[in-house]
Amino acid sequence: MYDCRNNLLAIFPREWSVGPETISLVVMIISLSNSCAAQELSAGKHLNTSFVRESFWEPHVESRNWKYVVIHHTATESGSLDQIHRAHLQRKDSQGRPWRGIGYHFVIGNGQGMKDGQVEPTFRWQGQIDGAHAGHEIFNKFGIGVCLIGNFETEAPSQAQLDSLKHLLAYFDRTYSIPSDSVIGHGQIKSTQCPGQKFPLNKYSNYSPADSP
Ligand SMILES: [Zn+2]
Repeated sequence: MYDCRNNLLAIFPREWSVGPETISLVVMIISLSNSCAAQELSAGKHLNTSFVRESFWEPHVESRNWKYVVIHHTATESGSLDQIHRAHLQRKDSQGRPWRGIGYHFVIGNGQGMKDGQVEPTFRWQGQIDGAHAGHEIFNKFGIGVCLIGNFETEAPSQAQLDSLKHLLAYFDRTYSIPSDSVIGHGQIKSTQCPGQKFPLNKYSNYSPADSP
């Protein structure tokens, strides 16, 4: 893969002279270095370790009183927050009103469309608004919707995805007191295969459908 740092090495001179050329060279290096950073930013490299940057998960407004986490998969091999957002903008609710965009609060990538294990909060999380993911009023209102990219009917999630999910669930437990009793697989509250038979739900959830509100 092309590395923009090569540009920096290529323009370093063998000998330095002091004068206006040196100053303009320094300016050039600084600006090239900035554009290198910008390229990395747009390539998503800055998100390499986003799953351990909890500050990135803080909502932009005062937190709501979340009580549950509902886990989903996309049932697709690849995908990203942006792709799901565009697809969900086409949807309408039961009253025929268009959705405001992606129905989940968080998306965890699988390396195909987003980085493997990359955690991205959506506008619903940043603005602390109801989800549109559970197909159930209470769980849309009080449940944090987390969607992992992948089809876990046919393939298990990656280790990086599961590591990130574990970290995210620990953050929810610490911040909102949501224990594993309140971590739910979508299929436990609605008739659906989501998040898929190869998702190791019992590692993360101790939810009992008998506790359903
Ligand atoms: Zn689901």
